[in-house]
Amino acid sequence: MDFADIANMFNKLELTSARLEMTSILADFFKIVPVTELKNLVYITQGKLHPDFSQIEFGMADKLILKAIAFTSGTPEDKVEKIWLKEGDPGYVAEMLIDGKKQTTLFSEPLTFARVIDGLNQIETAEGKDSQDRKMKILSNMLHDSSPLEARYLCRIVTGRMRTGASTMTILDALAVTFANKEDKPEIERAFNITCDIGLVAEKIAEEGIEGVRNMNIAVGKPIKVMLAERLPSISEVIKKMDGECAVEYKYDGIRSQVHIGKTFVKIFSRRLEDLTHNFPDIAQSLKDHFRGEETIIEGECVAVDADTGCIQSFQEVAHRRRKYGMDDTIKKYPVKIFIFDMLYVNGRDLTLLPYMKRREAIKDWFDISDNIQVSKMKIVHSAEEMESFFGDAIDERCEGIMAKSISDKSIYQTGSRGFLWIKYKKDYHANLIDSFDLVVVGAFYGMGKRAGKYGALLMASYDKETGKYGTVCKLGTGFDDAFLDNMPSLLDKYKLKNKSPLVDAKMIPDVWFSPVVVLEVVGAEISISPVHTAAIDIFKEKAGIGIRFPRFTGRIRDDKGPEQSTSVIEIAEMYKMQSHDFDKFDRAHTNI
Ligand code: ATP
Repeated sequence: MDFADIANMFNKLELTSARLEMTSILADFFKIVPVTELKNLVYITQGKLHPDFSQIEFGMADKLILKAIAFTSGTPEDKVEKIWLKEGDPGYVAEMLIDGKKQTTLFSEPLTFARVIDGLNQIETAEGKDSQDRKMKILSNMLHDSSPLEARYLCRIVTGRMRTGASTMTILDALAVTFANKEDKPEIERAFNITCDIGLVAEKIAEEGIEGVRNMNIAVGKPIKVMLAERLPSISEVIKKMDGECAVEYKYDGIRSQVHIGKTFVKIFSRRLEDLTHNFPDIAQSLKDHFRGEETIIEGECVAVDADTGCIQSFQEVAHRRRKYGMDDTIKKYPVKIFIFDMLYVNGRDLTLLPYMKRREAIKDWFDISDNIQVSKMKIVHSAEEMESFFGDAIDERCEGIMAKSISDKSIYQTGSRGFLWIKYKKDYHANLIDSFDLVVVGAFYGMGKRAGKYGALLMASYDKETGKYGTVCKLGTGFDDAFLDNMPSLLDKYKLKNKSPLVDAKMIPDVWFSPVVVLEVVGAEISISPVHTAAIDIFKEKAGIGIRFPRFTGRIRDDKGPEQSTSVIEIAEMYKMQSHDFDKFDRAHTNI
């Protein structure tokens, strides 16, 4: 297959923002791709060569890509950099400067997809002293034989930012349409949720049809998409929703950790599927030592504790563990405990479809409790009073609140879903607003006065799972300390765009647009109908969306969440309804994340 065909398909995707159209562009293409190349094509569509949880990267900074463009096109580096600063995307720079005459010289070779994959593999594995130079030359070599459009996407792939707008859900839809039926989508989604490997799902369905997908299993070592909780504004609503009886657990404020213990390894994954093992080697070892079986997957919250008293510390303390280097001292300085709250797999048995109480019993059956290995505190309650008193205990013990969990026969572990089988209730809900929001930065406004020359405010958006787009909800200008203000360009500028991303719906026009990538935690005073914001547009009022009033940055960059895991438009709309005490509208099926 020629890479030109793939570049054309990416271009078609980029030219539309309608999800259905994207699905059909992808599906039409999947039909003609040789089965052996489908897996790689699916990864590449997301700017990767591997599944999401793989740590392997191309290791090419934008500057190195620009160097390759300069080298190939014979343009001075400073000119390339100037264009890049204006365009904000190495892909466009390459497209402008690679002339695309495809001169057939002695050294030219056709740019097939196989050659691109081979080149990308070489870039990825280049190591050692001259590795940066070699990476640059491999890319340049491919650019030499590229058309301008191919050059655009080659340079985008190595940045990992494709900007085509095709989300995971759209790719799964297209796989369903091509190789099975639309009705099979839930099974395809489950296969993805338990493997987190979209390439593998694509390969299975192309080779073996829906039956192959049905036979896909959990594998120890490969993360599983996590289950998430809904929220309700009062304890009486929670107990009512749980039909008067449920389990309640402390909601610890730490780092969610999915731990995979294999025969020869232990791996800890974050909520975003990053490998956190090197941040918690003490916990990994202790869990291995206190597990009585051979293989398991559990979930728990890693929480910082006071070295002397053993008391739970705030999230800020455990956040010190999330660093790349200098872990030895950090481990001593910030002791951590894990509170296990679920077991998903043990010794060849998938437990995710078992009810909550069975999974909970399994934790105790297979783990010995120790100083740093604990099981989350839990109680079965039958009334709002009992729940209130448990909530009080949780707050006294410096937890964030409680997690109410269904104990019905249907209380499975819903991979990749936010549903009412788990309901969170936090101490913040006693304030005006019921929860903090994790919002995506889509734009920035230059500051004035003390903030002149810096970004002074950010345009924040939330993800709409129905449309696959981001709707704006507030302009965020408070809660930034000096360090954050200084740091904003290095956090955001790599996602700068020349124009608004096709994934963003906005009426407000910021000075700078960004690809929706960075997630920040924000609190607000109220959710209101807003004529200037676009989240939930036309839902509550014609031509108006919903906005967050008096938003304030909490100081927490949610790098444990991807943009699609930010607080969704549906969730904010629900919070708006809760605020208006319009609870009847809550009865809906769980939403997928
Ligand atoms: P938040 O920002 O409130 O932590 P979230 O979007 O990360 O929310 P939710 O499903 O809304 O996730 O809330 C559940 C989170 O609470 C889990 O992701 C986990 O990190 C944490 N947690 C703490 N204690 C527990 C517990 N006992 N059971 C389940 N989750 C718990």
